[in-house]
Amino acid sequence: MAATALKCRECKREYGLEARYVCELCFGPLEVAYAAPDASDVAELRRKIQGGPQNIWRYSEWLPLEGGRPGSTRASTAGLPAGCTPLIKADRLAERLGLGEVWVKNDAANPTHSFKDRVVSVATARAQELGFTTLACASTGNLANAVAAQAAALGMPSYVFIPANLEEQKILATGVYGTNVVAINGNYDDVNRLCVELSGEREGWAFVNVNMRPYYAEGSKTIAYEIAEQLGWETPDRVVGPIASGSQFTKLDKAFAEWLELGLITGDHPTFNGAQAVGCNPVAHAWEQGRDVCQPVKPDTIAKSLAIGNPADGPYALDVARRTGGSIEQVTDDEIRAGIRLLAETTGVFTETAGGVTTAVLAKLAEQGAIDHEERVVLVITGDGLKTLDAVRDSFTVHTIEPTFDAFEAEFSAMSEAI
Ligand SMILES: *Cc1c(COP(=O)(O)O)cnc(C)c1O
Ligand SMILES: [Zn+2]
Repeated sequence: MAATALKCRECKREYGLEARYVCELCFGPLEVAYAAPDASDVAELRRKIQGGPQNIWRYSEWLPLEGGRPGSTRASTAGLPAGCTPLIKADRLAERLGLGEVWVKNDAANPTHSFKDRVVSVATARAQELGFTTLACASTGNLANAVAAQAAALGMPSYVFIPANLEEQKILATGVYGTNVVAINGNYDDVNRLCVELSGEREGWAFVNVNMRPYYAEGSKTIAYEIAEQLGWETPDRVVGPIASGSQFTKLDKAFAEWLELGLITGDHPTFNGAQAVGCNPVAHAWEQGRDVCQPVKPDTIAKSLAIGNPADGPYALDVARRTGGSIEQVTDDEIRAGIRLLAETTGVFTETAGGVTTAVLAKLAEQGAIDHEERVVLVITGDGLKTLDAVRDSFTVHTIEPTFDAFEAEFSAMSEAI
């Protein structure tokens, strides 16, 4: 394994690669540090990646696992394979927005239909290496899906903690795996607080985004590695991505930086635009106010998967936007609904509300003239529309007719107009 330590993001103190997530000295968050692999022969390093498995483990040099190397039979190659999702050239979307080049990274195309399968795979694999036997999580919805499925695939018991008001589709798509669904009368921040308390008490329980958080977070880097590989070992000019806790957003930035430093990819470091809902905007609000810390909010938005009122990585997300010349934007629930329709109608990709947030933010940036026509833009779509069907209910007409030729002809003109 190329990972060498857990390192405090604030005071830089190092710890062993254990189940630990806060610094004892300063209470800063811990992050995995690596010894860079030998990059004297970049072509060889690329060939090694290309010869790896068709999932996130092709990037195991940059993941904090002991096993999981190509050909290994260690724990990390077991379970549900995540990753290698399509990067789609979205010419009609680009045209609609007056942009030059737009790509959609469709991370709904994962085993449980969101990017969370990546982070759960890494956290679970490390948890098994560390001897944990039970999986758990504090979830805004998609994480519960991914943990329940991964536990089922590996035959591990699991407990998933969710806010009780979650979309019915997400609860059904979680319970089906035979997990223990615990619905909390409260919001995500209440769920998280309870899980932090439980993780200190329950022997053998790996809360993937609490005591396994440093390992969990590394899984998001594989989205950026894939984007770079799919673009022919080049960086995009701009990345537009969603922010809940801010973990994924900051790890995409870290991944591009790691590979640029190695010389494995070419181009400039991308500009990062973060996307939040007005109804849960702690990071976007801090950005607007020019502050570098976030004030917690009480979430009230249809984008429930992004509804974290007290985002752990908020300050680091702000830093990424500032450092890369980007921004953090916010959009209303109506703009989110319109974003879902815009993406679906121009690309054939049906995303959940989080993707509606991201697409609406891209539309907003385009409208503001913030994006150069020469830029290559990647839109990160993180989850599937079938999980948040209410967001598109009554947004189109169903033509109900009698089963006759005349009935169809009478209705036909209305239909062609709709196109
Ligand atoms: C969890 C999630 C995110 C973002 O999560 P972070 O906590 O910011 O890493 C984005 N989109 C979807 C669909 C999610 O489920
Ligand atoms: Zn510290």
